[in-house]
Amino acid sequence: MTKGRIFSGMQPSGKFHLGNYMGALENWVKLQHEYECFFSIVDWHALTSSYEDTSKIPERIHEMALDWLSAGLDPERNVIFVQSHVKEHAELHLLLSMMTPLSWLERVPTYKDKLQQLGIQGKDINTYGFLGYPELMTADIILYKADTIPVGEDQLPHLELSREIVRRFNNLYQPIFPEPKPSLSKSAILPGIDGRKMSKSYGNEIPFAASPDELRARIRLMITDPNRVKRTDLGNPDVCTVYTFHKTFNAEQSNEIAQSCRQATIGCVDCKKCLAEKMVNSLADIHVRRQELEKNPGRVKEILVFGGERARTVAAKTMDEVRQAMNLA
Ligand code: SF4
Repeated sequence: MTKGRIFSGMQPSGKFHLGNYMGALENWVKLQHEYECFFSIVDWHALTSSYEDTSKIPERIHEMALDWLSAGLDPERNVIFVQSHVKEHAELHLLLSMMTPLSWLERVPTYKDKLQQLGIQGKDINTYGFLGYPELMTADIILYKADTIPVGEDQLPHLELSREIVRRFNNLYQPIFPEPKPSLSKSAILPGIDGRKMSKSYGNEIPFAASPDELRARIRLMITDPNRVKRTDLGNPDVCTVYTFHKTFNAEQSNEIAQSCRQATIGCVDCKKCLAEKMVNSLADIHVRRQELEKNPGRVKEILVFGGERARTVAAKTMDEVRQAMNLA
């Protein structure tokens, strides 16, 4: 007996990093044991802010599926699929767009911020698709009648809008959809190797697909306490990026590490080596699964086709109900 149904998605926007994994995917791997889960690679969403060059989309979808499966998402237990393989998302998006006041979309706090931010980067996203992003997200969720949505705090306004759209639909036509409620995920936030937010645009990321040797190399480059210049200087772990990682990947030894750092009984080189081995060990299963899957790209494709069929079965049923409710059957 599961607690309910979850829908969640990620845009295939390039190589996944460890911060993305800890921020969402690690949580999904846990949730799959408690909920009936629909996990979607939302390729149409990727177009809302990056529509000009679509040449890398197939490769990115494949990479994302590899990331998810190697992280431990079970394709039998969960419905894992690509959004654009289920055309019902587009139909429901269109129908919802007819009844959603423009002002609801314009007042989403992240809309103007992101518009400005991406505008500075030279992207013209003053488009209908970008404004309608939360509308498409709502269609994604309710197409599967998902009642629980794992979100970070920053996504709460989007979900609140989805709930408003659901209420409007249910009142105008028929009460078909449950109001999706948030499940706030409290994931560890990993900084990049220079201590700033982990981001590909800063070049400070640790790739999720990094091999053990690549992982060790990235950890060697991590910023430590800037005031600890010599081995004999007393350190402050609270300002050290390496220590932040110890707390996540080496929790049982982290107090000991902090004390050794403060007393200068451990050097930064050894401290990094210790972290590297802990991380290599804790990510070992993921690496093994990834190597296996990389040898068999046909298997990844099969999984996505299978997931698409399962998603379409549920989506088609919902759309029958929607068309009936709207006298479009
Ligand atoms: Fe950071 Fe470890 Fe060096 Fe202390 S000993 S400054 S925690 S790397």
